[in-house]
Amino acid sequence: MTTPVIELRGVSRRYDDGPPALDDVSLTVRPGEAVAILGPSGSGKSTLLNLVAGLDRPDTGTVTVDGVRVDGLGEAGSALYRRSKIGMVFQFFNLLDDLTVADNVILPARLSGTARGEAARRAAELLELLGIDRHARAYPGRLSGGERQRVAVARALMNRPPLLLADEPTGALDAAAGQDVSGLLTRLNAEGQTIVVVTHDLALARACTRRTVRIADGRIAEDVRPHVAAPEATR
Ligand code: ADP
Repeated sequence: MTTPVIELRGVSRRYDDGPPALDDVSLTVRPGEAVAILGPSGSGKSTLLNLVAGLDRPDTGTVTVDGVRVDGLGEAGSALYRRSKIGMVFQFFNLLDDLTVADNVILPARLSGTARGEAARRAAELLELLGIDRHARAYPGRLSGGERQRVAVARALMNRPPLLLADEPTGALDAAAGQDVSGLLTRLNAEGQTIVVVTHDLALARACTRRTVRIADGRIAEDVRPHVAAPEATR
């Protein structure tokens, strides 16, 4: 069987004296899947994302992404891991406003040591693929929210990451722009990109994912894969 993109085993994380933010969570995401992580505020979604992104460590359990044990990485190793294995898309885009669109997209490749010419070619290709090439020389502040999120997706894909992680990618967009981003994620997944999206947006979850994982009180309350129909009697 192929290496899972994400493998969490028995992961727990508790902050200070509070209840566990994550409590013995095990989750496997395979290449090509698109998974929505749903759950009320405070249920542990951000904690889960931070652990997968190597921004935090579990108290117990292991986090493995595309064969890399993320929970054991130091600061430098974790930065290198993020650059090579994951692309991240955030609610508020997190673009650098004093760099052009093209330079924002190129940045991750430059940080990874890709030659300028090659990085520029890849950026141009992505901007075209995502339908924003005409804005390559503009600054992000001039673009609409939906366009900015496309730029953020292009930047996230720059280093061809095995995993695209999106944290409320439609949260700051109006309905039309949200549908646009949702359509884009659907298309990328159809082309083979593994996607994990944390969202409150049920329309987004329905449109661009085939699997929904519901978290409640730090535990996986439900993991639904419509393709693997559970017999009624055992539900
Ligand atoms: P969600 O993303 O689903 O809103 P979080 O992962 O942010 O949930 O939070 C899960 C629980 O952990 C909540 O009870 C929250 O208050 C707590 N928590 C999250 N981050 C911290 C932190 N840095 N310090 C203390 N408690 C935290």
